[in-house]
Amino acid sequence: MFNITRRTLLGSAAAAAAFGLPRQLEFVMPASAEPPVEPLTGHYKYKVGSVEVTAIYDGIWRKPHDPAFIKNASVEDTKAALAKAGLTTEFMPIPLTVVVLKVGDRLIMMDAGSGVGQWQANATHLPANMKAAGIDYTKIDTLMISHFHPDHVWGLMDKETNAPVFPNAELIVNATEYNWWTDPGRVDKLAEGRKAAGRRIASIFPTWKNWKLVEDGADVAPGIQMIAAPGHTPGHSVFLVTSGTEQLLVSADTMYVPALLAPHPEWQGSYDQDGPTAITTRHKLIDRVIADNIRICGSHFPFPGSGTFVKDGNAYAFTPTAQV
Ligand SMILES: [Zn+2]
Repeated sequence: MFNITRRTLLGSAAAAAAFGLPRQLEFVMPASAEPPVEPLTGHYKYKVGSVEVTAIYDGIWRKPHDPAFIKNASVEDTKAALAKAGLTTEFMPIPLTVVVLKVGDRLIMMDAGSGVGQWQANATHLPANMKAAGIDYTKIDTLMISHFHPDHVWGLMDKETNAPVFPNAELIVNATEYNWWTDPGRVDKLAEGRKAAGRRIASIFPTWKNWKLVEDGADVAPGIQMIAAPGHTPGHSVFLVTSGTEQLLVSADTMYVPALLAPHPEWQGSYDQDGPTAITTRHKLIDRVIADNIRICGSHFPFPGSGTFVKDGNAYAFTPTAQV
């Protein structure tokens, strides 16, 4: 066994000859087995039927390892799962990608992103990457919100003034999620670590008039259905996009770090507000995606935020879409 660097292989016909391989074989070896933490590009477009999907990178939380992150797994267990997926084990990599759909001439943004450093200091890339993708955020017609955790909704508000960033867009959310977080007695009942976020939500969101509260199964746009996916939060929801014979499930945080939860769907993340319900939801949706050959994207999947699941006993194997 010997090591070959990328440099010695790229375009080297001589190397091909030396190895007794056909000359036309192209060597494109990864520089290292570990994919880069930050993506090579900030946006990525693909089609689902006639719907144009643009995945836009916001940033990454380099979360220090924490024994409380997964309630029923140790830090060693989570590191082993990361290593098996070919990811860094130096920290817990939690990237954030936001998807914008172009349906006809309508622009629909799926969650609002984390609000330029309001969630993590280095998750600031959404506006620039959106602009580079040719999308003007002032032209967004509709936002569909999966749930009210900061990384998904702080992008709705200005960091200093809490002024709405999308005052004229329609904001669609599961009524269960909205009502839970804005319940007058909620803040007092929240865990200490959630109180500040809860207070901001409860004091600002009800002052906006552009919310549209919907129920499980609602058709929220032509070809888009909201499906309740509770557990991560009480009203956590996913969106099923159908165009022609193709479908895409915008799965939000159902399977948030697939390197961990695909092989261990029974692991309970500390961010799953109701762990057992989150596990039931996870199995139900991923089994459906596999059975019905539905494409899937997730907010915290490695960029570009999509990939493929297959069954592996009672668990799953996940292959991320390659970065471009
Ligand atoms: Zn999230």
